[in-house]
Amino acid sequence: MDYLMYINGEFVESKTKRTITSINPATSEKLAVFPRAGKDDVEYAVESGHLAFKRGKWADMSAQERGGYLLKIAQGIGEEAKELAELETKDNGKPLKETIFIDVNSAISCFEFYANNAQRLLEDGCINPADNVQTHLTREPVGVVAHIIPWNYPLLMASWKLAPSLVTGNSIILKPSCETSLTALELAKIIDKAGLPKGVVSIITGTGEEVGMELIRHTKVDMISFTGSTSVGKLIMKEASVNLKKLVLELGGKSANIIFGDADVDVALGGAMTSIFMNQGQMCTAGSRLLVQEDIYDRFVERLVEKTQKIRLGNGLDPDTDMGPLISSEQRQKVLSYIQIGKKEGACLLTGGKVPADEKLENGFFLEPTIFETKDAMSTIAQEEIFGPVLTIMKFKTEGEAIDIANNTRYGLASMIWTKDLNKAHKVSRQLKAGSVWINTYGAFYNEVPFGGVKESGLGRELGREGLLEYANLKSTTADTSGRPLVSMWFSR
Ligand code: NAP
Ligand code: MG
Repeated sequence: MDYLMYINGEFVESKTKRTITSINPATSEKLAVFPRAGKDDVEYAVESGHLAFKRGKWADMSAQERGGYLLKIAQGIGEEAKELAELETKDNGKPLKETIFIDVNSAISCFEFYANNAQRLLEDGCINPADNVQTHLTREPVGVVAHIIPWNYPLLMASWKLAPSLVTGNSIILKPSCETSLTALELAKIIDKAGLPKGVVSIITGTGEEVGMELIRHTKVDMISFTGSTSVGKLIMKEASVNLKKLVLELGGKSANIIFGDADVDVALGGAMTSIFMNQGQMCTAGSRLLVQEDIYDRFVERLVEKTQKIRLGNGLDPDTDMGPLISSEQRQKVLSYIQIGKKEGACLLTGGKVPADEKLENGFFLEPTIFETKDAMSTIAQEEIFGPVLTIMKFKTEGEAIDIANNTRYGLASMIWTKDLNKAHKVSRQLKAGSVWINTYGAFYNEVPFGGVKESGLGRELGREGLLEYANLKSTTADTSGRPLVSMWFSR
């Protein structure tokens, strides 16, 4: 076994003795073997988290003091940055320049942000609701929180959840995706070195159906923070009613990228490509629906296709690679089946759509960057989240038409607007049903800025103050200092 899980401050096998083998999606080579947890492992992790919470060593520290531990974790990630980036690229497939600059760097800065700001962000002060009455508002940790995360940003999603939930004093059980558990298990080593009290963090590996479901149904788990598909999110919402768990659900998307005729075309072209081909399109915020205004449409689409055909596919470790493989053979099959549907529905395939012929790529799960053009905003490829490098382009005439198309989806995660007219951009933004709108940029994540969806893209927020407060219960403590509270006189006879 190459890796062990981390439960109650120890590195352990699964009680089931079962394992999972992780492979490199660029080569299909075996990468590492790690435990496949079962029900008893979940029980052990939840019980140790529950006990740690009850003992209160962590929960009773100040946020400032807990922040000190987070800084040690940030430092630990920094010391292993190169190795972690390479491991993430091997396990997930995405290019090394992405794992270095996005995944690992943002993981470090997220731990630093909450370490340095939690004390201030959690402050709540006093109110005087009546004469001689004082209410203190306090934020208290929720208890045992389970994090279930996907495979597209493994280390980063773990960090977005661990940093705010830990600094608020909770006990955590993290379950990474079984496609990409390795950087989470490396993170367990870093957390162990940081010296948090035993049981405060457990990282257990296994499948969603088994470990994930067990966590969701466990009555000693008080909260679930989940990032993944809308279908699993709905299932979680249903199951979590067992003890009315608090939920944060960061789910799927079908984000519209609106290019107005007055946009800076070169910049918008780059943005449109990044928003659908970065991480092989496996981004929840992917700008998978491209809406282009009619006056620039033909030339814009022509240039987009030309540039897309120049994208270099390859192993993510190769510095010349622009796009790596998809996460798995099944994911590629799923994306290919959407491409078939697109063709059947009569959409026009402008480029891509196939497994590349290049022999050097034959062992990986590569797929050509693909662009469809359609007039049918209700077609499957314009409505469903494909989660791969497949773009669907539509033409629009007016601002109103763009807004209608953009909002015509069950999702509401993000939207992008490209124009030189900032007044127009803000006016359009106000009408878009999305949790995040990016104007003249894409994927601009900042630790200070809350992120999350509306409609079927989810509930709650991550990052920012709002993302932190999700992990705290608000308590009001009201004291009457009059000595003669009204309530004592109801039965005064
Ligand atoms: P997924 O299939 O929903 O899986 C996400 C996680 O849930 C994995 O750890 C998975 O475990 C687990 N899981 C699966 N079935 C479960 C069940 N019945 N009960 C409990 N847990 C279960 O999603 P994915 O394919 O990994 O990721 C892609 C999806 O995530 C896309 O829809 C994408 O939009 C969304 N996403 C959203 C955001 C956001 O912030 N809104 C960010 C990134 C991704 P195993 O896979 O290990 O079995
Ligand atoms: Mg892998």
